[in-house]
Amino acid sequence: MDATLRTPTGATRSSAIRTWGPLALVAVLIALPLLPLPEFWIIQLNYIGIYTLPVLGLVLLTGVADLTSFGQAAFVGIGAYTTAYLTVNLGLSPWLTLLIGLGLTTLSAAVIGAITLRMSGHYLPLATIAWGLALYYLMGNLDALGKYDGILGVPGLSLFGFEIGQRRLFYALVWLFVLAGAFATLRLLDSRSGRAIRALAGGSQMAEAMGIDTLRYKVGIFVLAAQLASISGWLFAHMQRTVNPSPFGIKMGIEYLFMAVMGGASYVWGAIAGAGVVKVMEDQLQVLLPRLIGTSGNYELIVFGILLVLLLKYLPDGLWSFVDRRLPRAQRANDWQDAPALSARDKPAAGAVLLDVQAIRKTFGGLVAVNDISFQMRAGQIVGLIGPNGAGKSTTFNLVTGLLRLSGGAVQFRGQRIDGLSPRQIAARGIARTFQHVKMVPDMTVLENVALGAHLRGQRGALAAMLRTDRAEERRLFKEAQRQLERVGMGELLLETAGNLAMGQQRLLEIARALCADPALLLLDEPAAGLRHQEKRALAGVLRQLRAEGMGILLVEHDMGLVMDVCEHIVVMEFGTHLMEGTPADVQQSPKVRAAYLGTEH
Ligand code: ADP
Ligand code: MG
Repeated sequence: MDATLRTPTGATRSSAIRTWGPLALVAVLIALPLLPLPEFWIIQLNYIGIYTLPVLGLVLLTGVADLTSFGQAAFVGIGAYTTAYLTVNLGLSPWLTLLIGLGLTTLSAAVIGAITLRMSGHYLPLATIAWGLALYYLMGNLDALGKYDGILGVPGLSLFGFEIGQRRLFYALVWLFVLAGAFATLRLLDSRSGRAIRALAGGSQMAEAMGIDTLRYKVGIFVLAAQLASISGWLFAHMQRTVNPSPFGIKMGIEYLFMAVMGGASYVWGAIAGAGVVKVMEDQLQVLLPRLIGTSGNYELIVFGILLVLLLKYLPDGLWSFVDRRLPRAQRANDWQDAPALSARDKPAAGAVLLDVQAIRKTFGGLVAVNDISFQMRAGQIVGLIGPNGAGKSTTFNLVTGLLRLSGGAVQFRGQRIDGLSPRQIAARGIARTFQHVKMVPDMTVLENVALGAHLRGQRGALAAMLRTDRAEERRLFKEAQRQLERVGMGELLLETAGNLAMGQQRLLEIARALCADPALLLLDEPAAGLRHQEKRALAGVLRQLRAEGMGILLVEHDMGLVMDVCEHIVVMEFGTHLMEGTPADVQQSPKVRAAYLGTEH
């Protein structure tokens, strides 16, 4: 196994970089305008900062959560037009119109997000294009907004009667916003909400099964991205002193995405890199290319196109990935040892009926995948659900956990109907599961992945994360995650990147994640697949221990040694139907079962 913890020296180096890296960046940014730089470059840096803000939003949306939006430019436009209109026509203070612009942006992004983010696949980008176009033509056709000429004479910014101007002081303001945005984003990503956001990229099934309201988080980051764009628009209007629709059109929406991809869409610092490189290259090429070619024209677009193709081929994760690879992994210092344990839910008494599956049915078109299956299980019992491939075991799991809607029948958990509830509601009642095909966030650490399972046991949200008032709760969540990882024998891999794990370890990660939810019922879908002999024995030990603590476990597994060893009751399925049930001995002696397995597996 090549997955090992980082060496102590690596950890020291990384914590040094974590402490000094941001300070060095701030120092460079402060030093720049103090140097005898020509005005041109100060203004250039102002533009780079202004472009970075919407791109930062795209890091969250596109880079982290895999939601593509062409609509950032339109939100920049809302920020810019709100302040231009209100300062010019009503004489309001720009500091007030900043807030009004943010309010309008929040409102429109929440409404648009709630409608479009339910869409999947290509519909989301298309919807953001449609909305970007609509706003562009609205800005260009409203008399009040000056049509395509826009609004002239936007006042400059001043603070306490002091002119901020367009140069060095403005630079300070722009980069204050950029740094605040960048650090807020970094902190957000390293929190309970951040883990939920990072879980969005792999599709919503796993996240919902952990009790995460995926739509809420999607709308949340859509709004946050729009707010960053709105601030950028406000800065833009007061720097340019005029607004017109063209910088907020769909071309700019594409360009922001371009900057994000160029810089490295999943890196916060990639936003600055992308905005910087694109802005500087654009300007240089506009001067250079006509000279080289001899005629004028928008040749830089052609060069950009070629560069993008080359970049995607040779550095698909963007420019910052090149830097990031050379930095030591940032590692979280273990500060949660003394955190108080999370509170646990009331568990059913041993022997109480936990799960009552009543004639559940699922059809996929003409195929009856689960055909009137009934069984019961009790607290403190391990029940095996076995059958050849395609028998309907995983579908049964999906029906019980609400990922699929029943075509018929009913499911009761602790005496209450749960069919018809969402996966999230079912998770909240105390059912946790693993997946036959492991679903995790590969670029999070093992510990963070497992802490996802405890999502419903924490409350702190995005704002608390950005202000870092969530640390006490974070320590409790991590302590629980570590405890569950140690329980499944993964205590040495806490800080390993989950994507580096071997298959068997990934399955153990999923079990620890499910246990983090403090469930009363645990559904395990082929947990021993890919495990080595020793690991299987350890797994059997963990399952017995959980049973002794009163947990109910429903086990789908092909390793008959393990099933016969730990289960007291076994339900056998074949082609969606209930073949038989009984003790391990009954099942082993059943000619029907033997025929079922021999018939399909050999
Ligand atoms: P098992 O887990 O016992 O191997 P599954 O529950 O995965 O079996 O599948 C049962 C049957 O249902 C299979 O024939 C499978 O092809 C079919 N099936 C499962 N999920 C779907 C789906 N989403 N759409 C169509 N058919 C499906
Ligand atoms: Mg299956």
